[in-house]
Amino acid sequence: MGKNNSGTGVGGSTLHYTAYTPRPLPDDLHLRRDFGKGEDWPLTYDDLAPYFEEVEQFLGISGPTPYPWGPARPKGYALPPLPLNSAAQLMGRGAEKLGILTSPAANAALASRYYQEGVGWREECIKCGFCQAGCANGAKASMDVTFIPLAVKYGADIRPNSFVTEIERHADGNISAVIYKQNGQTHRLACNHLFLCGGSVETPRLLLLNQLALTSGQVGRNLMAHPGVQVWGTFADEVRPTKGIPGGLISQDTHRPKDADFAGGYLLQSIGVMPVTFAGQVARGRKLWGQALRDYMRQFNHIAGINILGDCLPHADNYLELSEEQDARQLPKPRLHFTAQENELRMNAHAEKTMRAIWEAAGATDIWAFGRYAHVIGTARMGLSGDDAVVDRDGRAFDVPNLYICDNSVFPSALSVNPALTIMALSLRTADKFLERQKRRDQ
Ligand SMILES: Cc1cc2nc3c(=O)[nH]c(=O)nc-3n(C[C@H](O)[C@H](O)[C@H](O)COP(=O)(O)OP(=O)(O)OC[C@H]3O[C@@H](n4cnc5c(N)ncnc54)[C@H](O)[C@@H]3O)c2cc1C
Ligand code: SF4
Repeated sequence: MGKNNSGTGVGGSTLHYTAYTPRPLPDDLHLRRDFGKGEDWPLTYDDLAPYFEEVEQFLGISGPTPYPWGPARPKGYALPPLPLNSAAQLMGRGAEKLGILTSPAANAALASRYYQEGVGWREECIKCGFCQAGCANGAKASMDVTFIPLAVKYGADIRPNSFVTEIERHADGNISAVIYKQNGQTHRLACNHLFLCGGSVETPRLLLLNQLALTSGQVGRNLMAHPGVQVWGTFADEVRPTKGIPGGLISQDTHRPKDADFAGGYLLQSIGVMPVTFAGQVARGRKLWGQALRDYMRQFNHIAGINILGDCLPHADNYLELSEEQDARQLPKPRLHFTAQENELRMNAHAEKTMRAIWEAAGATDIWAFGRYAHVIGTARMGLSGDDAVVDRDGRAFDVPNLYICDNSVFPSALSVNPALTIMALSLRTADKFLERQKRRDQ
């Protein structure tokens, strides 16, 4: 799956995400009901809609109002869409010829200055194209310039460079403290409640290391990753793929393709790319090396790409476990098993055909596909019962009453959209449900 999946540091993966922030469509949440495959969420789109709106307004998401797909929304995006880079314009041109509707995407980069509680004024995006390397002027809504400063305003104490290794429990099974290492020193932090937000690899790893919340047998299971095949083409005119906002254009017309031979569906998105990232993909995807790679890379400024993100079905062979290999802290490393199954392969084949057709219609030559899977999802899933799920619909562990999980390990299905907006919305809902529970207890 490559490096496109992790992120450490204060802000996590959002430090280098592309900031595409589409909402899932309502039927994304009931794949099993519709197809007899995959898993349904214990929540509906309507349960999450107010939280999508809250995140969109708080982060200052730029996007089209009205949005062409999905239910009508009471409120539009906080800011108008960002300008399209060349790849987005070319994709739009090709798609239009094929009758595929495209739209400027929702993106968590600011189309203009934006005032945000706890943060102040954040500056507008300067379209430098470096989103995946981290945004130097704070225009991209990564957590370090949005929710974390807000949390600090309300009293959160941020302890950077810390890594939790142990979770202690009282005799009744509730969590009492976490043990973490910071700059070589071991510390203990007592807690009344623990919110675990380590991401889909480190969250199940910590649970397995500490033998915590394991009754359902689902920790580490249901590992999913979005089918994310990319299709690249070369254009006679200059494209300059490093310029402009990389997360520019979207189509959700392929959400449930009529001629599909698979369950679920996918979205299409234009790509911006940096030369070193692209050269790595060319070496792997086209098997070019040395002089041949240098020759191909000379046309870098003329290439443009499109990719998909599609549903992925949970499968017994796809899981995370602890390996016998140890990391620098002498803890077992996580080992991930993931093999694309029939549904993912069929979806990728359908998507590759569609994207090749778009590039042909847009006038590209030397079109080629790079197979990839993005975003690790689903290793501590949410459900209605502790028999087959780790947390309930409010994010609370069935086995451990004072443990909550807030990251995409709890997703029961992968959704056919980028995950960050849903992770944030679901986390806000989990926080609300926790506060409601606390309030009821205090009354
Ligand atoms: C290059 C790239 C581009 C992407 N583009 C998009 C996009 O356009 N749109 C989108 O929606 N998504 C995108 N994603 C995915 C998105 O960024 C992630 O899915 C999302 O940020 C995951 O959030 P999370 O909170 O689940 O986990 P993470 O962001 O991984 O956060 C986990 C945090 O926990 C910390 N941590 C882990 N273990 C421990 C421990 N034991 N002790 C202490 N701390 C720990 C980590 O350091 C990290 O800060 C992209 C990802 C990458 C890498
Ligand atoms: S294009 Fe540049 S300024 Fe705009 S969000 Fe990305 S990194 Fe930040």
